[in-house]
Amino acid sequence: MVPDRPGLLVHNAAEIATLAGGVRRGSTQDDVALLASGESGGGGPDDPALAAYEGRIVAVGRLEDVEAQLAEMGISESAITRLDARHGTVTPGLIDPHTHLLFAGTRHAEVELRQRGHSYLEILAAGGGILQTVRMTRAATDDELLDHGRGWLREMLSHGVTTIEAKSGYGLDTATELRLLALAGRLGVEGPVEIVPTFLGAHAVAPEFRDKPNAAEAHLDYVINEQLPQVVEQGIAKSCDVFCERGVFEASLARRLLMAARDAGLNVRLHADQIQPSDGAELASELGALSADHLGSVTDEGINWLAASASGPHPTVATLLPIASFYLAEKHDAPARRLIEAGVPVAVGTDFNPGTSPAPNAQLAMAFAVHRLKMSAAESLSAMTINAAAALGIAASHGSLEVGKHADLAIWTVDSHALLPYWLGANLVRSVVKRGRVVYAADDTPG
Ligand SMILES: [Zn+2]
Repeated sequence: MVPDRPGLLVHNAAEIATLAGGVRRGSTQDDVALLASGESGGGGPDDPALAAYEGRIVAVGRLEDVEAQLAEMGISESAITRLDARHGTVTPGLIDPHTHLLFAGTRHAEVELRQRGHSYLEILAAGGGILQTVRMTRAATDDELLDHGRGWLREMLSHGVTTIEAKSGYGLDTATELRLLALAGRLGVEGPVEIVPTFLGAHAVAPEFRDKPNAAEAHLDYVINEQLPQVVEQGIAKSCDVFCERGVFEASLARRLLMAARDAGLNVRLHADQIQPSDGAELASELGALSADHLGSVTDEGINWLAASASGPHPTVATLLPIASFYLAEKHDAPARRLIEAGVPVAVGTDFNPGTSPAPNAQLAMAFAVHRLKMSAAESLSAMTINAAAALGIAASHGSLEVGKHADLAIWTVDSHALLPYWLGANLVRSVVKRGRVVYAADDTPG
């Protein structure tokens, strides 16, 4: 083992996609702020390099300039670990802005039910779907949930991910929702993958309320009056989410919860217009939500609302989850091209969850953004770095390789970021750095 030194110098990169310059929208979504190696290639003084010290980036640019900057700062060679990128691409560590990390059990049986024509909402109405996961999650011990979380976090990390959002939402009762948030917080402290926890007590109507009149409203009152104050007091969740969908929580109910959450000091986001148009994009924009997620059935009006938000100082990010729409064989994919053309910042996530996207691989989400949503490779990289950071409210410190930001990066076996979504299903990670430390290195990788 190389001893930990406070400094890190990444050299011999074919290119560094810095993503410098802030949140991407419109034509800038396609600009990854690339530093490319010179004609000579192979570790010359003109080649792009990056230095970090005590977890933060201190220099990005030509190797010669980066070394000069380190010398000027009085940082000696002995304080620096040199990391050879072996002529691979360097990008910010990927950020997955939408996961349901913590749950118990699997739902593979639903695949065949759907193939025989039963819809997601039908399976839910019959007590399957989320409700099956809720039963198993409530029954799971803390250790079982932690083991599960650690295992999938390792898998995410090995695919280049350094930060994720993790939602509660498979408890639906107060005790389990608080437990899921506490466990997510604990896994984030353990690291190395950083976790931004989200409260999703309104993921579905809890079994206790399903036979009551106005079941959705009764569950929502319970979330607002009992769960939310305790979640705020617990202090782990950074935002509040709701499954806003016709037949689950209508927009009027979602608005009540999100306004209460906002008043209590949480950021808000929502599952919006996933299966049917449900005024989710409109509501997200109106409330200044960090993100509107899914958007497979967003209307023209909804896009107009998001576009209006995008021209303001705190744009609502459209977080698209193309693996889920593929997995559910949805008729509509989210209209990524129209959103980008309207100037809406687009992020992409895996939606990792047991029912509609059992997929921890962020590279696959980028590939689906390209091959199903018709985004460019560069647009998909912006979507899983700086724009994903914006969707989580952490773009000031995460999501790009700029001086002062956290030194979270991925080094890839391929020599161009354009190849990341090209090799479908292959893991192209060479190594992953979190806060300036190498936290994952592939043994022997292609390229
Ligand atoms: Zn989700």
